[in-house]
Amino acid sequence: MSSPSIVWFRDDLRLADHPALRAAIDRGEPIIGLYVLDEESPGIRPHGGAAKWWLHHSLASLGERLGERGGTLVLRRGPAERIVQELVTDAGAGAVFWNRRYGGAEREVDAALKQGLREEGVEVASFAGSLLFEPWTVKTGAGTPFSVFTPFWRACLALPAPRAPLPEPRAIDGPGRAPASDDLADWDLLPTKPDWAGGLRETWEPGEPAARARLREFLRDDLGSYDRTRDEPGAGATSLLSPRLRWGEVSPYTVWHEAVEAGGGSRFLSEVGWREFAWHTLYRFPELATKNLRPEFDAFNWPRLKPTALEAWQQGQTGYAIVDAGMRELWQSGYMHNRVRMITASFLIKNLLIDWRRGEEWFWDTLVDADEASNPFNWQWVAGSGADASPYFRVFNPELQAKKFDGDGSYVRQWAPEYLAEDGRPPMPIVDLKETRQAALDAYEDVKQAA
Ligand code: FAD
Repeated sequence: MSSPSIVWFRDDLRLADHPALRAAIDRGEPIIGLYVLDEESPGIRPHGGAAKWWLHHSLASLGERLGERGGTLVLRRGPAERIVQELVTDAGAGAVFWNRRYGGAEREVDAALKQGLREEGVEVASFAGSLLFEPWTVKTGAGTPFSVFTPFWRACLALPAPRAPLPEPRAIDGPGRAPASDDLADWDLLPTKPDWAGGLRETWEPGEPAARARLREFLRDDLGSYDRTRDEPGAGATSLLSPRLRWGEVSPYTVWHEAVEAGGGSRFLSEVGWREFAWHTLYRFPELATKNLRPEFDAFNWPRLKPTALEAWQQGQTGYAIVDAGMRELWQSGYMHNRVRMITASFLIKNLLIDWRRGEEWFWDTLVDADEASNPFNWQWVAGSGADASPYFRVFNPELQAKKFDGDGSYVRQWAPEYLAEDGRPPMPIVDLKETRQAALDAYEDVKQAA
């Protein structure tokens, strides 16, 4: 009698450099791949619309790739602790392997499951696959976690270098009889009425093969000029790896080692370091998406200036070219360049005086790379309430930012062309930059008093 191993796929939808899959192969028993759509466990944040679109296609690709190698992917929906337990029983599994997650609610599910399964005599092991440095290994000299990026990254770089990536398995031994699986189409992850995903389909190809191809292409063509052009949204100079890292179609270990082999790219790797920093911050502050990291910001009174301002921002109708271009890029493609994310976020918080959480929720719903660490972390960074944050009183001026980073107008021309066309009729500015900046600084006085 065989006692299959379950590999529970989560934010690691790949075959290469997958330590949990490797452990299952080494155990030598048939392997059942599992993905659980968990929208029920307490505290688990349901995916946004764009993320669901990506997840659908990435799961389809993973299932196909497992199938080609002799394996199988079982899809089940429900609270993960119960679903995994049930599959263990149904399949008579002897072991469950997974790569670790770092959000608070996810860790609770995983810890409860680990304990329950072990008590039943099932082997359980978890592995590092999604971060280069485990959060509990990076500490200040005093043994506390870092709250400033530069010393954090320096401490990471002083640790032993990230391990080499594991090769992709050629064959996977599946179970004789595959356990029952949901049909992916029944999960309704794709939008239908209306189907707003046309721009996403044009922009992206989810799945591990496309992720690896994109990494190779970026390293070959753009790594050399990355430091110089990464801040120019019209230059197309960044890696576009964020959704691939978000869904784990490529591992950060693979990115790290291939970048080093391609000639270093220490600036690029330090950006990957910001991803680490965001996750380490979430690990120690699980309420990152809802609570100010710096509690004195709780005293901030959000005097939203116009009732319709949030909608105008979401729709890219603020009357400021670079803001509108960014918000339209986001809506159409599920992505926005980092510089423009900072500009649009600053505009929402410091010119429209709208709570950063409303912006974070919109990004959560519309970004294909939305993740529960990077998104709130960066919103809090812009708001001034977060770790190593940009000070609140530093307010981006969207017009100056556009001049500096989109001097030739190529980005605005692509996404909001009416601003540059001779006969274009761009929307009127919904707020005055100078006045609103002052209003933001006045409101910030309350925070200073509370500090
Ligand atoms: P590259 O410049 O090629 O960088 C390489 C990788 O480093 C990225 O793929 C990403 O994984 C990581 N990275 C780079 N900058 C950051 C950063 N500031 N924080 C965390 N990781 C970073 N990134 C997300 O992955 N998910 C989010 O939900 C997200 N929300 C954001 C919200 C706001 C308000 C802001 C200002 C930034 C946000 N970012 C988020 C960070 C950043 O904008 C994107 O990671 C980046 O634009 C992705 O493009 P790229 O892959 O071409 O980046």
